[in-house]
Amino acid sequence: MTTISNNDTLFARAQKTTPGGVNSPVRAFRSVGGTPRFITRADGPYFWDADDKRYIDYIGSWGPAIVGHAHPQVVKAVQEAATRGLSFGAPTEGEVLMAEEICRLVPSIEQVRLVSSGTEATMSALRLARGATGRDKIVKFEGCYHGHADSLLVKAGSGLLTFGNPTSAGVPEDFVKHTLVLDYNNVQQLEDAFANMGGEIACVIVEPVAGNMNLIKASPEFLQAMRRLCTAHGAILIFDEVMCGFRVALGGAQQVYGIVPDLTALGKVIGGGLPVAAFGGSAKLMSHMAPLGAVYQAGTLSGNPVAVAAGMTTLKLIQEDGFYERLGASARRLADGLTAAAKEAGVVFCADAIGGMFGLYFSATPPNNYAEMMAGDRERFNVFFHHMLDEGVYFAPAAYEAGFVSAQHDDAVIDATIEAARRVFKKLAA
Ligand SMILES: *Cc1c(COP(=O)(O)O)cnc(C)c1O
Repeated sequence: MTTISNNDTLFARAQKTTPGGVNSPVRAFRSVGGTPRFITRADGPYFWDADDKRYIDYIGSWGPAIVGHAHPQVVKAVQEAATRGLSFGAPTEGEVLMAEEICRLVPSIEQVRLVSSGTEATMSALRLARGATGRDKIVKFEGCYHGHADSLLVKAGSGLLTFGNPTSAGVPEDFVKHTLVLDYNNVQQLEDAFANMGGEIACVIVEPVAGNMNLIKASPEFLQAMRRLCTAHGAILIFDEVMCGFRVALGGAQQVYGIVPDLTALGKVIGGGLPVAAFGGSAKLMSHMAPLGAVYQAGTLSGNPVAVAAGMTTLKLIQEDGFYERLGASARRLADGLTAAAKEAGVVFCADAIGGMFGLYFSATPPNNYAEMMAGDRERFNVFFHHMLDEGVYFAPAAYEAGFVSAQHDDAVIDATIEAARRVFKKLAA
């Protein structure tokens, strides 16, 4: 007897009215093949698909679900906020509290502006950097994702120090001709770029822990060089911590590396699952923003009261004693357990973790940049991914994404995952 999966039925219907059947491309399983799972509900470390199959969830909405899905305190805060009205288009005390909390937790931020997505946060930070410096050129790194604003959808040009090419149709060459794309973790290229055109560079934007080309940690030297060169040449250093902020440590990657950026973009965790993102920096820099200054930016739903309630409650929960120690220990336990299981089976594989983020690599050592990441065995990852899915473990459906644990991923959940992987690695080796 064959039964038709409800996921298949929903996917077929979805593709009729939504391009590719999804509202964000990676959800379509294009990279790994097969049918995306349609999620009906989630609780703690788990979610369930349309066939009521349960999965241990290692994407956590791509980061926001750091305290676990449907945390009772977050849900309660959202319900209470909703009964008081959904949106006013006028300021609220909740926004004041949230701004105060962000400024307290991330000392490089003296003033912050709330927006609704990471894309908006980075896009606005770029505009601010350009507005404040009066310069047009920006530097980004291959494999870092900063949302889908035009000037950031760029890959490296044909030669070093040539400007980039659009990675999306619909992005005019003219928009990206100011974007220089360099290799991640390459200090020499940064030095060369600044030696060449330091006086024209408005900003450098970087994921200080990269999570959109699998997990790749920046070397301390790389970030230190960036800080030094930006300061020397009057350029703005933007840390895009939309993913790693409140994820690798309470104070983000800037706390881990001890580097003070000029601007920080935040998102994901700070909304706790609802649309909140933010960008901020020194009061002096932020004074360029409208209504004080000449850099325009606005949003109908910015600082939305229901979203802020979810975000604030999440920010409180992550400050509980030992939260990041436990989160980090879980991600480490998973990375080490998977590495050991692969080794037993003789599969070339390694894993790494930082805070509540982890990377799985079908290569002998973790990659240091985009090219090394792309050299990993993605075919093998895809087979691994589908076997793990059958086992009830949901990893990110692409070899170039990082993974996330929540505070609800306890030892039993992690160990069940490692047991499943042990069976799967044996199949891969056979
Ligand atoms: C997710 C992400 C973004 C974009 O955030 P959205 O809320 O999806 O627009 C930007 N930068 C980084 C580093 C991200 O991980």
